[in-house]
Amino acid sequence: MAKIIDGKQVSANVKEQVRQETEALFQKYGKKPGLAVVIVGNDPASRVYVNNKKKACETVGFQSFEYALPEDTSQEELLELVETLNADKNVNGILVQLPVPKQIDDKAIINAISAEKDVDAFHPENVGRIMIGEYAFLPCTPAGVMELIDSTGTEISGKRCVVIGRSNIVGKPMAMLLLHRSGTVTICHSRTQNLAEITREADILVAAVGKANFVTGDMIKEGAVVIDVGMNRLENGKLCGDVNFAEAEQKASYITPVPGGVGPMTIAMLMKNTLTAFKAQNQITD
Ligand code: NAP
Repeated sequence: MAKIIDGKQVSANVKEQVRQETEALFQKYGKKPGLAVVIVGNDPASRVYVNNKKKACETVGFQSFEYALPEDTSQEELLELVETLNADKNVNGILVQLPVPKQIDDKAIINAISAEKDVDAFHPENVGRIMIGEYAFLPCTPAGVMELIDSTGTEISGKRCVVIGRSNIVGKPMAMLLLHRSGTVTICHSRTQNLAEITREADILVAAVGKANFVTGDMIKEGAVVIDVGMNRLENGKLCGDVNFAEAEQKASYITPVPGGVGPMTIAMLMKNTLTAFKAQNQITD
């Protein structure tokens, strides 16, 4: 029976470290990190994410600045706000909650955020830095997954790692982070043939598909570490991962639950990135 990886606990530990460092820096320099969160429109899921980010800022002692713009905001208006935030010295990190309404090109917005304030690590400059292993920020969800794997004490070097999903925000950077730690990495996607054969070879299996209960017990190697990034809303309103948990926990050595696994880590890593940005922008090296 698998051990459950407690994402709430691991994320609380990360936030506590950030809080303590923030407090110490405030005592020394009299400044606090600031995170600006921009939300456009009324998407209820986005609203929940933004509220959670604000709450996390309070927990770790950051200033948070919220900009809630109406659904019909134009791309020019949003770009203007991003420019203002780029120039604002009290703002160290900028996050535009995605998705944005259809009249706005999200790529144009991501590209406009100053790379040094891009705490989501979506800007092409930061994406490129991840590729060559010289990064300031890691994208929050994959970085959170790495913390969860590390919390199990699992050695990644030399292990067979399989990532299901190749999105720019999860699958691709996830594979790159595992590669940087010397995992032997395979990326699977919707055109992959014989998927189960590949996943059954994984010592570390990361599912980022967006399909409820997609990974079944027979796709998992005995003793694998199984990380479920999926967040799927079922018809009954319940949140469900990409992994069939009941089946997978019979095979895995460690497994993340949904909710309470990867989800809380994403916000904790956002706090860590904002602190990193604050230190870099203030030339603080301690
Ligand atoms: P996405 O952009 O929709 O990507 C899904 C990936 O799954 C694609 O690469 C797709 O392949 C692949 N896929 C779809 N059907 C497949 C199949 N039958 N076999 C193999 N691969 C298949 O989704 P995402 O943004 O990466 O997110 C993935 C999941 O993670 C979602 O449930 C999302 O809600 C969740 N998520 C959670 C967090 C968190 O904080 N916990 C953060 C971000 C995302 P193709 O490329 O070939 O289409």
